[in-house]
Amino acid sequence: MFSVSGCVLCPRLVAFRKENARKHPDFLNAPVEDFGGMEAELLIVGLAPGLRGANRTGVPFTGDGAGRVLYPSLIKHGFAEGTYREERENGLRLIGTRITNAVHCLPPENKPKGEELRRCRYYLEGLLERMKSLGVVLCLGRVSHESFLRAMGERLVDYPFSHGACHDVGGLKMFDSYHCSRYNISTGRLSVEMFDDVVGMVRSHLGVR
Ligand code: SF4
Repeated sequence: MFSVSGCVLCPRLVAFRKENARKHPDFLNAPVEDFGGMEAELLIVGLAPGLRGANRTGVPFTGDGAGRVLYPSLIKHGFAEGTYREERENGLRLIGTRITNAVHCLPPENKPKGEELRRCRYYLEGLLERMKSLGVVLCLGRVSHESFLRAMGERLVDYPFSHGACHDVGGLKMFDSYHCSRYNISTGRLSVEMFDDVVGMVRSHLGVR
């Protein structure tokens, strides 16, 4: 079993979990496990759980604005089926897809520190070793992009981040998108259509199932 359950490697984030457990006792307030199977061809790498999203429901991208952008696009392009709900039982089955985060615990102000990203990369590295069918990695945001490259042992300078970019990285295809956070949508950095276009590029690369 490959699990982040009970991980206490990051003192600041463990303290924040406890603080949130007092404020929001009905939330998960713990490391958030990945969603989807190890046999997936596509791995989506997000940044970190959101307070009222994954930190509440315990399922990546479930319960906040980012999920409202991500999941309809995954359903549209055949990476998920069902009806998305903003609850722990989110009504979805992922198809050939696994969703993880660069950091599995909620960071204050949604900003993980470098040492927290480094510690949690242990799990991403283990995941990449175990996902034997993996062909494509979709990185949501620059931090996720850099964490993935570091997990692969690659130099950041060789793979510049930009929305819609596609790189060959150690036998995998890496696609980049701005993170589908409510902040990015509300500021206009990213539109739902722009995000959906990148998921469509991933679909085209993997072929219609
Ligand atoms: S962020 Fe990752 S490494 Fe740090 S405590 Fe949470 S699960 Fe452990």
